[in-house]
Amino acid sequence: MKKKDLDWSNLSFDYQPTDYSYECRYIDGVWGKGGLTTDHSITLSECAGIFHYCQEVFEGLKAYTTKNGDIVCFRPDMNAERMYDSARRLVMPPFDKEKFVKAVEDVVRANAAWVPPFGSGASLYIRPFMIGSGEVIGVAPAPEYLFRILVTPVGPYFKGGLKPIKLCVSEFDRAAPHGTGNTKCGLNYAMSLKACMKAHANGYAENLYLDPATRTYVEETGGANVLFVAKDGTLVVPKSYNDSILPSITRRSLVQVAKDLGIKVDERPVTFDEVKNGDFVECGLCGTAAVISPVGEIHDDDLVISFPEGHDEMGPVMTKLRETLTGIQSGELEDVHGWVHKIDVE
Ligand SMILES: *Cc1c(COP(=O)(O)O)cnc(C)c1O
Repeated sequence: MKKKDLDWSNLSFDYQPTDYSYECRYIDGVWGKGGLTTDHSITLSECAGIFHYCQEVFEGLKAYTTKNGDIVCFRPDMNAERMYDSARRLVMPPFDKEKFVKAVEDVVRANAAWVPPFGSGASLYIRPFMIGSGEVIGVAPAPEYLFRILVTPVGPYFKGGLKPIKLCVSEFDRAAPHGTGNTKCGLNYAMSLKACMKAHANGYAENLYLDPATRTYVEETGGANVLFVAKDGTLVVPKSYNDSILPSITRRSLVQVAKDLGIKVDERPVTFDEVKNGDFVECGLCGTAAVISPVGEIHDDDLVISFPEGHDEMGPVMTKLRETLTGIQSGELEDVHGWVHKIDVE
């Protein structure tokens, strides 16, 4: 297999079509066989459910090349499961989990020439998504659905290294109490764009959202979960008492990695007062794209909360966690939990 002629080390985080996408249709109450397609556009009725009532769920994962040259992805079964749960929340027919993993394998294998080589820092981003494609004019679940996976090569999330970022506490909420905060769906993002653009315009990397019901607990940012390190070195992981935090696969993996490393982990609701009091010495955001991004400061109006051990560069605990997880992902450290999923490419 001959790799595409791309400048792998200088890819940005932008879409470019590859050779194949995957598509499967749900018609007359059943999911079809599904398969690869070279058509990267979708033609739909103007009355398709997605356009009116926003039935859409998605996932994000990546395929990359390990040190010994294998093409792999990371815990795709977890994405399958989360998309299954997201679909059920939006009354969409869930996609079979094993079929999901097989579809990911098929589309990556077919686009193997687009998977960046080891050491480039780049990866093949995999975006599975499902939309209500059938026509619906009264408010109701659509009668037909489309499941697709697009893949696109992307560069490292952080170009200039891992400089700690600044967050601001948003005046907006990301999710409603008992709403769709724990669901990976486009509608959560549509409603967060205004807050996101405002944060960027004010010089912040992201918004930190507090719990929508009481605004006393820390939830997460627009697209990543939050982690803290307490003074005694404990990893403190905010938990939502009303289940409105998105269950990040990276966060759940890091919690396991921390336990494996003998780091104490405390998963519990975290009040914003604790953060303001200076109880935490490091802060980070976690998600597939960056694994961990260090947070140096959180601003709440005029108040500046600074994380002393992670202010100028990533702190020691976040660094250890990040290095361990990326080491497992790249095949440089032993994968004791069987997280790295090899895709056989002939
Ligand atoms: C996707 C996402 C995350 C990160 O999840 P990972 O599975 O770790 O990539 C966190 N928060 C939100 C709101 C997300 O949409």
